[in-house]
Order: sequence, then C-alpha cells, then structure tokens
Amino acid sequence: MSPRPAPPAVDRAAASRAAVVARQARAAIKHAVASKARTAQDVLDAAWADRQSAEAGLRVRELLTSVPTLGPTRTARVMAQLGIAESKRVGGLGIRQREKLRTYLRIREGGIEPRRLVVLAGPTAVGKGTVSAYIRDHHPDVHLSVSATTRPPRRGEIDGVHYYFVSDAEFDQMVQNHQLLEWATVHNSFRYGTPREPIETALASGKRVMLEIDLQGARQVRESMPDAVLVFLLPPSWEELVRRLIGRGTEDAAEQARRLETAKVELAAQDEFDYRVINSEVGQAAQEVVELTLVPAASA
Ligand code: 5GP
Repeated sequence: MSPRPAPPAVDRAAASRAAVVARQARAAIKHAVASKARTAQDVLDAAWADRQSAEAGLRVRELLTSVPTLGPTRTARVMAQLGIAESKRVGGLGIRQREKLRTYLRIREGGIEPRRLVVLAGPTAVGKGTVSAYIRDHHPDVHLSVSATTRPPRRGEIDGVHYYFVSDAEFDQMVQNHQLLEWATVHNSFRYGTPREPIETALASGKRVMLEIDLQGARQVRESMPDAVLVFLLPPSWEELVRRLIGRGTEDAAEQARRLETAKVELAAQDEFDYRVINSEVGQAAQEVVELTLVPAASA
C-alpha cells in the first residue's frame, strides 16, 4: 500500500481539534464507568450501536481498567483469557470477542461476585482433602463442590457427600451433556469432574464456592472463569509430602511412586496460582483459604 497523502493544512487543524474532542469524550466515558454513573455493559451497547461513537473508539483495556475493582493486572489477564489483543478498540471487536466480553461483564456487573469461586489445588497428598473437609465442617457458609468420579469409594466415603461415585458410562454421559464445568483423568487412572449446575446455582445465589480439584482442572476453570481465585496448597517441605503420602497407606507401592511423580510436576506449577498457602496445621490453612474467598478482587 502506498502512504496516504497528508491532508491539507487547514484539515489537519480541524482533524487535531476533532481528535482532542474525541479524547475528551473517551475520558468522560472512563470517568462515568469508574464512578459507577454508567456500567461497562452500557458502554458496549453504545459502541456496537454506532461505530462512529466515542464508545466505539475506546480501547477495551481502558474500559476494563475503569471498572471499579478491576486493576491493570487483572485487566491484562482477563483480556488474555478472552483472547482480546492489547490495542483493540471496543468498536473493532469481532462477534465472538463481543460475546465473551459481554458475558464476562454481565457476570461481574450483574451482582454475582465471581471471585467468590475459589479453586484449591496442590500436589497429591498435601492435604487438600483434609483442608476441604475442615472447611466443610467449620464453614457451612462456603459451598463445597462435590465431584463426580469413576474411582470406587474408599472405606468411610459416602456417595453424594465425598463424591458422586459413577460408572464410566455415566461419566461419559455427563461429559457429552456438558454437565461438567471441568474434568480430568487424575494419576493416569480414574476420571474426576465438577458438576456444573450446583456451582452456577450457588454462585447465582451469592454463595461463596470452593472446588478442591487437581491442577488440570484448575487450569480449565481459569480458562472458563477468569475471576476465579486459584489457591495452591503447599506442604511445609518435600520430605513432609513424601511422609504424608506413604503414611496414608491407601495406595500400593506402584501407585505411591506414580503419585510422587505427579506431585513433582504439580509443585512446579505453583507460580500459575494467585495465592499459596502452606499446610502446616489444617485449621490454620483452612482459615487462610476461607479468608481468600473474601479478598476484594482489586487486591487480588
Ligand atoms: P482422591 O482419589 O485421592 O480422592 O483424589 C485424587 C485427586 O483428584 C486429588 O488431587 C483431587 O484434588 C482430584 N479431584 C477430586 N475431584 C476432582 C474434580 O472434580 N476435578 C478434578 N480435575 N480433579 C479432582
């Protein structure tokens, strides 16, 4: 393409005046969103109704950082997860990006607090199960997700309380019907998944929700729910982790070795998480996790 000829001098002056006006209009929109005089969704509507509007010329990044409690760091992450380039303007978004952005803002501005969804993950045998059982017993205000699994029940495990124990065929059915928010094959053996409906119902009624799942599942939740708070539970030391795994005595030697291998890989992923909690004492760790469900998104 050949360079565009420069406009005549008189037009240049008019153009720069127009640019100043447009900039002021965009600043006014950002201010209205920041002071809650307008919602970001309202700005989207105006932008998509008129491609020439000031709203359409606003960068998505600028719109999102104006939303109260959405700082620059979280905005960058949300945009990456929604697949929207840094420099995109609201008016220039494609259909799919529009849908994703609208859904994201609808949840955030709709009174539902998505950050109330906390995902607890961590290496095998770190004590995730113990911490989540403690939370179930001591914090009834936190809704704990009950996963479906193809693993057979261990002694003392109750169907519908610890897991929904399902057959392979039933699990296939749940996957096919999109009934699972995430699912994964854990330790190369059984499948585990989070039933979607109870989570959505709990969130919609304003409850705080916690999922205790493996790393693969945590990554899937981060993809589909960028506001989820991801917490990584750490052992006080590697030696302690090994001791806990052997001490539990629920797996044979081959399974123990397999799980230790998985644990090494899982520990290496801790930097992907928003928070790390060391599980030295169960009550203390549980308290820290519960407090994270209350942390304002702005400081997350
Ligand atoms: P266990 O068989 O010892 O109860 O659990 C094995 C692993 O499966 C644990 O790491 C646990 O976090 C993970 N897990 C439990 N439920 C789910 C789930 O719904 N989804 C995923 N991805 N992992 C789960």
